[in-house]
Amino acid sequence: MRLSPILELSAALLFILLAFFFRSSNIFFKLPANLSVQVPVNLTSDYGRIIHGAPDAVLRPSSPVDISLLLKSIYSSPLYDEVTVAARGAGHSTHGQALAPGGFVVDMRSLPLSITIVDGDGTSYVDAAGGALWIDVLNETLRHGLSPRSWTDYLYLTVGGTLSVGGISGQTFKQGPQISNVVEMDVVTGKGEIVECSERENSDLFHGVLGGLGQLGIITRARIKLRPAPPMVAWIRVKHHDFEQFTRHGELVVNAGEVDYLEGFIKFGDAPHSHQPEDAFSRFGAERCVKPRQPTAYYLLEMAIYYDDDDVSDAARKRAKVLARVSSMTSVEILEVSYLDFLNRVREEELSLRRVGLWNVPHPWMNLFVPRSQIRSFHDLLLRTMSDSCNNGPILVYPTLAHRWNLNTSIVVPQDEAGEDVFYVVGVLRAAPPTCTVGTSCLDRLMQQNERMIRMATARGSSRGATCGLTTTTTCPGAEWWEEDGGGMGAKQYMPYLEGEEEWREHFGPKWKRFEELKAKFDPLNVLAPGQRIFKRKK
Ligand code: FAD
Repeated sequence: MRLSPILELSAALLFILLAFFFRSSNIFFKLPANLSVQVPVNLTSDYGRIIHGAPDAVLRPSSPVDISLLLKSIYSSPLYDEVTVAARGAGHSTHGQALAPGGFVVDMRSLPLSITIVDGDGTSYVDAAGGALWIDVLNETLRHGLSPRSWTDYLYLTVGGTLSVGGISGQTFKQGPQISNVVEMDVVTGKGEIVECSERENSDLFHGVLGGLGQLGIITRARIKLRPAPPMVAWIRVKHHDFEQFTRHGELVVNAGEVDYLEGFIKFGDAPHSHQPEDAFSRFGAERCVKPRQPTAYYLLEMAIYYDDDDVSDAARKRAKVLARVSSMTSVEILEVSYLDFLNRVREEELSLRRVGLWNVPHPWMNLFVPRSQIRSFHDLLLRTMSDSCNNGPILVYPTLAHRWNLNTSIVVPQDEAGEDVFYVVGVLRAAPPTCTVGTSCLDRLMQQNERMIRMATARGSSRGATCGLTTTTTCPGAEWWEEDGGGMGAKQYMPYLEGEEEWREHFGPKWKRFEELKAKFDPLNVLAPGQRIFKRKK
């Protein structure tokens, strides 16, 4: 039997009114009590010191339930219809990714520092709070003779912060990035639901959150794979004068899998004749200001072999094998250090830069994944663009292996149609002089150099010649090379700084549709991580 049209209409109207009442009344969800409008100044910018923006309030959660309450309130009430929320880990982003200007910041460091070893199926894991620093995870696991397998170069970053971007270092070619070493997470979605997820359970959220730039949910716990911790590390650096030889050696070592870690560095200028041991292994230390008439550079291949004090001869054998591969006509330095000192190597440099006031300066960083076939072209572009500037901070260039990356996650790496397994990690990690603040021409110049290199590197095939730099091709550094070469490099940015949906669509490529669908499912109002500038907040 059919209801009369009037009754049908009234029922529909009643339904809409009730839905509106429940969303607008906010009777079920109150903002958590520990939301504070006292915003400390350190939450208004980040390590980059380029983007600034104060939130209206800060949540210092004492449990994931506080985060859930906040997000549920925002999702369910039109009172908060413009409010955005950013989780903030250690705030070591460089382009405002953890900021929420005019919104709410969730200070993840306030969550209880829970780090617990878990045994299962013959493997050990650690359950770490999303706001725990990796150095805390390392210290705790070492007490049990264990260690996570995959690292970042610097350990004062949070578990949630690096899992949201990828988490890479010299171990990645062997162990995969940090996001390939997680088996389970607790996530608070943009709708405020607390969800446990893994490869098997809620796998769309699990994969989407890993490398998902904080867009789908806030990680409050991650279960991370462990390995036995080696006590000692042979830390080796091999100097090269020729880029081809440097990349050939790096790839040989990575493919042979004989070392536990491999990174590489480009150094501007001529290699110093006499070595200064105290500087040999520094990376973030202030460089000499080199402005050669001709762009010149030398290259350092940095490797590490983990070993047990009980098995020194095995380490010596491995080392001899590796050096036989890479040391022809090159100089070699070796340090024997503890595993902890090796992994925590950047900390000393941080402290010494802090002492001279050079840590809290603007950091116009640029990170890229470059296809193997384009790494020579990228090297030439880098030298032409940067060699007339003062360059402080390391320039990392090293090979990694695509098959170690779980491509079901949200991370984006270059697609190689020829099926090439190797691609290159490039990090141009410059520190501007302290006077080079936002709005000064010196910082603008560094940012423009980055932008040009990024555009040239990330352009695809036929579009490449047309999109060089900010102006025309003739004013681009490296324009001669650009025009001679004529094709695209097809690189992808790591931790991109992009403006708006169009650029992000291009970045994600074939992964965009799925990412957009996941966003609509888990954060339909686009509340989370506005500093990434991917999706506009919906009312
Ligand atoms: P934040 O800067 O606080 O946040 C980063 C993003 O993640 C934001 O969008 C934020 O909203 C989101 N987020 C934060 N916490 C969570 C959470 N719990 N759940 C969901 N989303 C969250 N990266 C590497 O891969 N390898 C390196 O070797 C490396 N070395 C570095 C060295 C230094 C000195 C610095 C400053 C950075 C380095 N990075 C490196 C980059 C670093 O991994 C990223 O910037 C990372 O996001 C920083 O972590 P964080 O805890 O500071 O996150």
